[in-house]
Amino acid sequence: MGVRKRKKDLSLLERIYIPEIIKGLVLTMKNMFRPKFTMEYPEEKFIPPASYRGRPVLVMEENGEERCVACGLCSRVCPALAIEVQASETEREKERYPEKFEINMLRCIFCGFCEEVCPEEAIVMSKDYELAFSNREEAIFDKEKLLIPISQLDERIQFLRQYK
Ligand code: SF4
Ligand code: SF4
Repeated sequence: MGVRKRKKDLSLLERIYIPEIIKGLVLTMKNMFRPKFTMEYPEEKFIPPASYRGRPVLVMEENGEERCVACGLCSRVCPALAIEVQASETEREKERYPEKFEINMLRCIFCGFCEEVCPEEAIVMSKDYELAFSNREEAIFDKEKLLIPISQLDERIQFLRQYK
């Protein structure tokens, strides 16, 4: 830290802040030529890394089936009470499936607890951060909006497996 001069020891230039103004201008000029970190969104999109927690989505297998077995764990762990699951029986080996699966995106806080607790890797955090609604109903995402093909979620699933 520099030693503070007393007012009577300051030169005329120092009294009218000229050295400080010059220092400020030099700093501004330096920063003008540094690389930019801002983006011109929405023309330029941010592509998040695999660690990013965007909106939660349901995994759809290659054959079009959902992975979810409607165990309800995600719904129980969700701190924002954003998930509603209603289970139903199937005829197949996998006995249960979610007849209804909804996430209220107005409530979701993107904590990722649902993803962590799911025993089937059936719900994962996506890279989607573009959420805009014009009314409350639009913010309730049903299976049609939630199910995403596994090919689009592979990066996140591989990322999660590193920590299991
Ligand atoms: S990310 Fe968190 S708040 Fe959002 S649905 Fe999952 S558990 Fe609930
Ligand atoms: S998404 Fe996972 S935790 Fe949630 S109900 Fe389905 S299987 Fe269970």
